[in-house]
Amino acid sequence: MIDMIYRRMGKSGLKLSAFSYGSWLTFSNQMALEPVKESLAMAYDHGVNFFDNAEVYANGKSEELMGAAIHELGWPRDSFCVSSKVFWGGSLPTQRGLSRKHITDACHAALRRLQVDYLDLFFCHRPDNDTPVEETVRAMDALVRQGKVLYWGTSEWDAVRIVEAFAVAEKYNLTPPSVEQPEYNMFHRHRIEVEYGRLFNEFGLGSTVWSPLASGILTNKYAGGIPEESRANLPGYEWLHERFRSEEGMRRIKTTAAMNEIANRLNATMAQLALAWCLANTNVSTVILGASKPSQLKENLGALAVLDQLDASVLDELEGILGNKPQPLPSF
Ligand code: NDP
Repeated sequence: MIDMIYRRMGKSGLKLSAFSYGSWLTFSNQMALEPVKESLAMAYDHGVNFFDNAEVYANGKSEELMGAAIHELGWPRDSFCVSSKVFWGGSLPTQRGLSRKHITDACHAALRRLQVDYLDLFFCHRPDNDTPVEETVRAMDALVRQGKVLYWGTSEWDAVRIVEAFAVAEKYNLTPPSVEQPEYNMFHRHRIEVEYGRLFNEFGLGSTVWSPLASGILTNKYAGGIPEESRANLPGYEWLHERFRSEEGMRRIKTTAAMNEIANRLNATMAQLALAWCLANTNVSTVILGASKPSQLKENLGALAVLDQLDASVLDELEGILGNKPQPLPSF
C-alpha cells in the first residue's frame, strides 16, 4: 500500500488526504450500511481523512448512513473530517438557498444526521441570487463562532462572487471562505486551471474537487456501451444517460479509449491515470473519490502509485490527446 499524501487546504492549517471519499448518488441509492461501512473503513485504513456529504444527497439519507457507519466504526473524532453542503434542503421557501435561516437549520440537521458536534467543512452548494452575499457570510461566521463549523466554503461559485465574500468578510471582520468545491477532471478544467488562479495564489483558497472520473466515463468502462450496473442507468438519472449518449459524451468516450493505451503502458488502469492527473495539479487540495462498490474504491486509491509516473512527457502526451488545455486569461 502506498502511503497517503496530505496537502494543506489552501493557506489554512488543515491537512487533508490527497484522496478523499464522497457519497453523492452512491450512499443509500446504490449502497446500504454494510458496503458503506466497508468502504469507509477501507478509505480510512488507506489514510483518507476527509469524507464529503451534503443535505441533498439521497434527501439526507446519505448523511444518516455516513453518521451511522462512522459511529459503528468508532473512529476518534480528531482523526477525520466530515463535510455537509447547504442549498437544496426541501421544497419550502425556507428550506432552500443560502439565507441565514436555511444555513442555520441545515447545519443543525446535518450535525444530527452525521452524529457529530461540529462540521469540519460546510459548503454553500451553489450561489444564491436571492440572498445577499453579506447575509450568507454572516450566517457562516456565526456558525464558526459557535463552534458548529470549523471551515466554510463555496461550491461552483464564480470567482467574482468568491472575491465578494472575501471583501465582505474583511470589511466586517468576519470569517472568510477557506475552500471551493468545483468539478475538475480531464474534460472539465477551466475553473481550476484559469478562473480561480488568483484565488489560489493571492487569497490562499483551498479546493476539494468533484467528479474526477467525469461520473465514470474516465474509467473507460463506457467504451463498449453503457453498462447495466452504472449510475447512468439509475432511475431519476436519465439526464446522465442522455449526456453519455450525446455527441460530446461519445467524443469523451473515444478520447478516453485513446488515453487508455497510455494507462496500459504505465501498468495502471484508466481510472487510476485520470485520478492521478487531477492530483498532478498542486492547486488541488484533495480529489474526492466516488465509488459505488468497495472494489472500485480499492482500485482508485491505487492511483497514488501512478502520480510519480506523470512526468512532463506523459502529461504532454495526454495533452495531445485531450486537446483542451484552457487558455490563460489575457493580461493588460
Ligand atoms: P466520479 O466522477 O469519480 O464518479 C464516480 C462513479 O464512477 C462511481 O460512483 C462509479 O459509478 C464509477 N466508478 C468509480 N470508480 C470506478 C472504477 N474504478 N471502475 C468502474 N467504475 C468506477 O466522482 P463523483 O461524480 O461520484 O463525485 C465524487 C464526489 O464529489 C461525490 O461523492 C460528492 O461527494 C462530490 N460531488 C460534489 C458535487 C458538488 O456540486 N459539490 C457534485 C458531484 C459530486 P457506477 O458504478 O455507478 O458506474
